[in-house]
Amino acid sequence: MKKINVGINGYGTIGKRVADLVSYQDDMNLVGVSKINPNLESNIAIKRGYNIYTDNKYKNKFKLYDIDIHGDIEDLISNSDIIVDCTPKNIGKEYKNIYEKYDVKVIWQGGENPNIASKSFNSISNYEELYGEQYARVVSCNTTGICRILYPISLKFNIKKVFVSIIRRGTDPRDIKSGPLNSIVLDPVSIPSHHALDVQKIIPNINIVTASLKVPTTLMHMHIFNIDIDENINIDDIISLLSKQPRINLIKNCTSTSELIEYSRDLLLPRNDIWENNIFLDSITITDKNIYLYQSIHQESIVIPENIDCIRSMMKLEKNKYDSINKTDNSICNRKI
Ligand code: NAD
Repeated sequence: MKKINVGINGYGTIGKRVADLVSYQDDMNLVGVSKINPNLESNIAIKRGYNIYTDNKYKNKFKLYDIDIHGDIEDLISNSDIIVDCTPKNIGKEYKNIYEKYDVKVIWQGGENPNIASKSFNSISNYEELYGEQYARVVSCNTTGICRILYPISLKFNIKKVFVSIIRRGTDPRDIKSGPLNSIVLDPVSIPSHHALDVQKIIPNINIVTASLKVPTTLMHMHIFNIDIDENINIDDIISLLSKQPRINLIKNCTSTSELIEYSRDLLLPRNDIWENNIFLDSITITDKNIYLYQSIHQESIVIPENIDCIRSMMKLEKNKYDSINKTDNSICNRKI
């Protein structure tokens, strides 16, 4: 089987995880990763055997640390069938002209403006819509977590209205510059937050409002759901429906993000990543045709398998979403925790 050549532009929190997962796929070849700074992450790329590309103007910085550079970022782009752009928010758009010049397919991440690509992506909700597309945007960690719950419920029940409170981690563990350190920040102060609009890009016509705030933690996000359904519903039906979904864990005996991360560390999952949604089973409650629940989302890893599925859809490697999802999920180990 001919492998698809994948390049990763931006080797940070998301990029290094996508690079690892691409390297585990039997239908993909990792061409290399781009770095603009010779930091410890460059050492990891070298240890993993990944080719490092940089902008020619940064080459000398890498020479000082004896780090071999394989070529310019434009070489990475021209040698790839598809680029996964994992550069920081608003940087990805600066590469659009270069991507167009080499006629390469591109996946951007949730930090970019939704208009950067004509379609946004979530594996379970709209895999087929991206089949053969040139450009896509994998929605953010929070939007991914919300879509994974709402899409299967929307197939089975008539959803009247959804409200999700999003309690966001202040920043990622690797970040030494951001906060908050001692505040609860309305992010943004206006309602809805952008997540509702993003969900509607994936599941059109859904009536949803989201409100988002940031708190001083780095581990995970927490969501509080209220899903108003147009009919009488049974809690067992909801639990059964959610338990059958890929990338959804129903968690028992746990009441915090700290315990979940510790569990992941004890399971020796790579980087303590949990790429599934984690629904707290005891929180699932039905009152007056409304479903309430808590879930937590590991922001650094939840979108990684979606990027792999998005590559398969855009490169026409798998027609059926479940074939891609299963292939991705089985590529490291049996993931459900
Ligand atoms: P990051 O800052 O951890 O990593 C970005 C990497 O790109 C860094 O290595 C940086 O040095 C490099 N970079 C900076 N400028 C560059 C340039 N001009 N060319 C090439 N590389 C450059 O960022 P991240 O958290 O991985 O975020 C990447 C994207 O993923 C953003 O759109 C973000 O919104 C989105 N996202 C992030 C998370 C998360 O929790 N971190 C979750 C989902 C989606």
